[in-house]
Parts: sequence; C-alpha cells; structure tokens
Amino acid sequence: MDDGRAMAPLSSEPIAGPGSDAPHAVVIGSGFGGLAAAVRLGARGYRVTIVEKCDGPGGRAAVFRQDGFVFDAGPTIVTAPFLFEELWALCGKKLSDDVDLRPISPFYRIRFDDGTIFDYTGDREAMRAEIGRFSPEDVAGYDRFMPIASRFLKSVSSSLAMCPSAGFAIC
Ligand SMILES: Cc1cc2nc3c(=O)[nH]c(=O)nc-3n(C[C@H](O)[C@H](O)[C@H](O)COP(=O)(O)OP(=O)(O)OC[C@H]3O[C@@H](n4cnc5c(N)ncnc54)[C@H](O)[C@@H]3O)c2cc1C
Repeated sequence: MDDGRAMAPLSSEPIAGPGSDAPHAVVIGSGFGGLAAAVRLGARGYRVTIVEKCDGPGGRAAVFRQDGFVFDAGPTIVTAPFLFEELWALCGKKLSDDVDLRPISPFYRIRFDDGTIFDYTGDREAMRAEIGRFSPEDVAGYDRFMPIASRFLKSVSSSLAMCPSAGFAIC
C-alpha cells in the first residue's frame, strides 16, 4: 500500500440506488467500517461512492500477495459473524450464499524462536492444557480471566457493535 497516493474513487459508479435523483453519500475509507457503512447506505437507497487513499480496499483487513503466498494484514479470525450476516440481510441476501465461513482449529498458532508452538483454540480444556504445558501456574489465571473476558465481550457487543455511536446514526 502507498499512503502517499492521491485519493481516488474505488469506483466511479454508484454502488446502489434506485435512481439518479437518490441522495449521494461519499464514504471515506474502505476498511471494514467504511464498507459496512457503504452497504448500509446503499441498502437505504443512497448512491454511494467510496474513496480510498491506498491502492486497494480493506484498510487494516487488506490482503498482500507475494511469491504465490497470500498474507492477511490484519484480522486472523472473524469474531462477530452475525455482523456480516446483518449486512447481507440488509441487501436481501444471505452471507452463506457468497462466503463459506468455517470454524477452524486452532484459531492460530504462535511459533516462538526456540521452536516451541502454542495453539490458540476455542476449546476451553484444550486451552487449559496448552497453557499448562507452558506454565502450569497460569492455568488458574486463565480460569479467572475467561469469565471476565466473556462479560467484557457481551458488554462491548451490546454497547458498541449493536448501537450507533452518539451523535451520528444512519438508522
Ligand atoms: C494485526 C491485526 C490483527 C487483527 N485481528 C483481528 C481479528 O482477529 N478479528 C477482528 O475482528 N479484528 C481484528 N483486527 C481489527 C480489524 O482489522 C480492524 O478493527 C478493522 O479492520 C478496522 O476497520 P476500519 O474500517 O475501522 O479501519 P481501517 O481498516 O483502518 O480502514 C480505514 C480506511 O480508510 C482509509 N483512509 C484513511 N484516511 C483516508 C482519507 N483521508 N482518504 C481516503 N481514505 C482514507 C485507509 O487507507 C483505510 O483503508 C486486527 C487488526 C490488526 C492490525
């Protein structure tokens, strides 16, 4: 990506809209946030143009290709698939018709320079065993942490992800 490039529209054509007299919305940035906003605006009948200063869309979720390999710049796992499903539903479609989301295990593998690996999974017992392999005394801390993290996620999901920010809302 080249942050120094001049800003240019990703597409000169409106994404959606019932007619040329539909109100026109310009979304700055094509990260997940901008793309989601554009979908919501398009579903509400706006003509939408997204402008992006980098070479391609994605923002922190961009993808790089080199020597036949594909590198994710950011997200490793999808933490809230229902938010994607909602966007597809707003357009009268189903996410599963276009995207094949599958649970994977491990979520990711951490490789240390001494050759040891740590597999991060969604299985509580497997995680306890993995932590115990590295540091048995930290298993109790993991057990204390998980209920706290669960409460935090529920709180964040309801207060941030599901509600528009104060002062700006399109719905
Ligand atoms: C290493 C890493 C791992 C992550 N792992 C996860 C994960 O596992 N699960 C998860 O849910 N999330 C993860 N995230 C977080 C997730 O990637 C981000 O929260 C999300 O992509 C942010 O989207 P955004 O649209 O808010 O911002 P951004 O992705 O930053 O998008 C902003 C866009 O706006 C463009 N822009 C900015 N200013 C201008 C301008 N003036 N004119 C035109 N364009 C402009 C930028 O170029 C960029 O494309 C991770 C992030 C990183 C970096």
